[in-house]
Amino acid sequence: MQVCFYGVRGSVSVSGPRFLAVGGNTPCVALEHEGHRLVLDGGTGLAALGAALGPGPQRLMLLFSHVHWDHVQGVPFFGPLFHPDSQIAVAGARRAGSGIREVLDRLMQPPGFPIRLDALRARLQWAEVAGAFDYGPFHVQPLELAHPDGALAFRVEAGGRAVVYATDHEPAGQLDPALLGLCEGADLLIHDAQYTPEEYAGQAGPSRRGWGHATVDEATAAARAAEVGQLALFHHDPGRSDEGVFALEAAARGRFARTIAAREGAQVAL
Ligand SMILES: [Zn+2]
Ligand SMILES: [Zn+2]
Repeated sequence: MQVCFYGVRGSVSVSGPRFLAVGGNTPCVALEHEGHRLVLDGGTGLAALGAALGPGPQRLMLLFSHVHWDHVQGVPFFGPLFHPDSQIAVAGARRAGSGIREVLDRLMQPPGFPIRLDALRARLQWAEVAGAFDYGPFHVQPLELAHPDGALAFRVEAGGRAVVYATDHEPAGQLDPALLGLCEGADLLIHDAQYTPEEYAGQAGPSRRGWGHATVDEATAAARAAEVGQLALFHHDPGRSDEGVFALEAAARGRFARTIAAREGAQVAL
């Protein structure tokens, strides 16, 4: 299985010379196995994935952890959705009484956006995530996380390898036993690492308690406890420069050696 990072930034996209190495697009991670593609989240990185795939039709699944803005804003800019021969499955959990189709329908409506969902010409298949399911060679196990409005983690297995995508959640100092169980023995854990412990506690700027995100130390602690193969720090704070991300990565390696900071364009082969 190949893991390709197209968007690694949390909360809001950023640009400029301070962010060139890590990248400024919001979450989008593509998992590829034997010609099949499962795309996790549709942040602005999804537009970059569409550009990389080119103008032809695509067959893939778009799977949403949740529908906060930073995880859906790339959807209207994803070229393959406009190709009549694309076959795209769109999956997410029901939230606040709305399925993923209704949520995206509201996102793509005037006056917020001029192109409606029904203008997408791809063959779309809508799916509600309510438990484990398969898509092509991928077996997906979801888990509800502690996050405002809810969010799902996913353990995705294919070809005898496992990756866990656990962004957007707040352990609040206590590792979630259910999440550790989901991560058990995974080859790669992609984990929210938005804050330093000092930022979280309010010793560097405002307290971030209740904002729905993890610290870098919680990410390494989860990786150690679940004995995963590798850890990718993810959902970098929009204020964190390349230098800042690399400093956190270096410090994290002191606690869990096989740590990388996810960056745009990076690929991990499992
Ligand atoms: Zn987010
Ligand atoms: Zn969120």
